[in-house]
Amino acid sequence: MVNLEAYRDILSTIPKSVALVAVSKTKPVEDILFLYQHNQKVFGENKVQELCAKYEQLPKDIEWHLIGHLQTNKVKYIASFVSLIHAVDSLKLLKEINKEAHKNNRIISCLLQIHIAQEETKFGFSYNEVEELLASSEISELQHIKITGLMGMATLTSNKQIIMSEFNELAKFYDRLKLQLTLPNCNFSTLSMGMSNDYKIAIDCGSNMIRIGSTIFGSR
Ligand SMILES: *Cc1c(COP(=O)(O)O)cnc(C)c1O
Repeated sequence: MVNLEAYRDILSTIPKSVALVAVSKTKPVEDILFLYQHNQKVFGENKVQELCAKYEQLPKDIEWHLIGHLQTNKVKYIASFVSLIHAVDSLKLLKEINKEAHKNNRIISCLLQIHIAQEETKFGFSYNEVEELLASSEISELQHIKITGLMGMATLTSNKQIIMSEFNELAKFYDRLKLQLTLPNCNFSTLSMGMSNDYKIAIDCGSNMIRIGSTIFGSR
């Protein structure tokens, strides 16, 4: 069930410049439609199959974000409609997104996921790998993608200092790249960081896109 009060509370406390992605993974289309009718138009899913099924059933003016890990062989299923891919973590994947976007006559916006957490299991580039990627000539040839920023997930911990230092470092890196980048297909506008448990810290550190699931939709 949707917690409308919690949703409104988030909206009324975050700055206007921060976009809210309602993370609806595992939740039924009825819940999404309910929130949509309360004017939420941006939803995030982490699985391609679930995203496609929900896209088919729901209003076509919803902006769908893929927030989870994306396998290259699944890009083709979402390329016609996805608004933003948050978790791009290889050049191979960028090339595949470019290819499928081309087929669909689109330019698909992508965020590069940076691995900022201490946990081993999370996907993403290191800071160095992103520097190398953005310096490679191959990137500028991809005319059907636009790299619009970065995404990161902090360590799952109750220690706010750790979360804050991870988010701060990512924000600093984002700010520097935003100023330095001159590639035609890179135009940084989005720093996606912050989830239910850490979005307030993330915003303090400079996030302008938060991804909130359980606070709005209930636990999974
Ligand atoms: C599930 C998920 C979220 C939302 O997490 P909550 O703690 O439920 O707010 C945000 N980002 C990603 C990448 C996720 O997979």
